[in-house]
Amino acid sequence: MHGAEFFETVYEVDQSPIGKTSRSTPATYIKVFDEIRNLYAQLPVSRVRGYTNARFSFNTEGGRCETCKGQGVIKMEMSFLPSSYVPCEDCGGRRYSPQTLEVLYNDKSIGDVMDMTLEQAAGFFGANQKIARPLGLLVDTGLGYLKLGQPSPTLSGGEAQRLKLVTELTRGVGRAQNERIRKMRKPKSTLYLLEEPTIGLHMADVELLLKVLHRLVDEGNTVIVIEHNLSVIAEADYIVDIGPEAGADGGEIVASGTPEEVAKNRISRTAPFLRAALNVGGALVPRLSRGKSRH
Ligand SMILES: [Zn+2]
Repeated sequence: MHGAEFFETVYEVDQSPIGKTSRSTPATYIKVFDEIRNLYAQLPVSRVRGYTNARFSFNTEGGRCETCKGQGVIKMEMSFLPSSYVPCEDCGGRRYSPQTLEVLYNDKSIGDVMDMTLEQAAGFFGANQKIARPLGLLVDTGLGYLKLGQPSPTLSGGEAQRLKLVTELTRGVGRAQNERIRKMRKPKSTLYLLEEPTIGLHMADVELLLKVLHRLVDEGNTVIVIEHNLSVIAEADYIVDIGPEAGADGGEIVASGTPEEVAKNRISRTAPFLRAALNVGGALVPRLSRGKSRH
């Protein structure tokens, strides 16, 4: 294999769920919840009472509501019927004990914070970049309506996929900010593999996905997408068109090059459609500005 030395890691991004229990939420997945808990632990009331950041976890004993074990909901097992969830009567769905909820940051308890949307929280924690920055990235990619405490299993495949990609972006931010590591060695990039990421996505979501992919490329990474969606193909820096037919009659490289070059190919079945997508007004999604690509 040629050129593999440029990559530090390979990461396959799919639409599989990011968590199987309601203990996983967008806030815990993107690690921003750790910072929020630290912030609450540093408040004067917490210091006087000896509350550490563990107190503000809903996954461990100490500060959570023990009736619902920090889930905010109680599972109702009913014979002959699928089990359903009802809000916990003790905490009113807020996951924490009354004492924990007495600790307020700008008049809001940690339970109130979990009930905020990502967009609301990005504004609320605007003074703290460690929290606001990752949340802002999620808002930029159209996930601002998700709640911090929303159970991850309730996310759609497309939402889970974008949350994974943005989490990667926030890791990159952390790496770039670490001056010492940057001086020690030349940063390498990640190779991202996506197989038909647009399956099940609405047109508006495809556009948001493309924005995240461009950002990953702008930060020096490489993205390889296996895709039939012309909006995505037209956004690529380089296309490898495999065909000429499907299945057993395919498997050959029919054309390769920039979208403009492949569009001119006379054998490629994709070319006529690509020409239409590249034409002004013919594109399904207006072409976004191209990011700079290193590979
Ligand atoms: Zn409860």
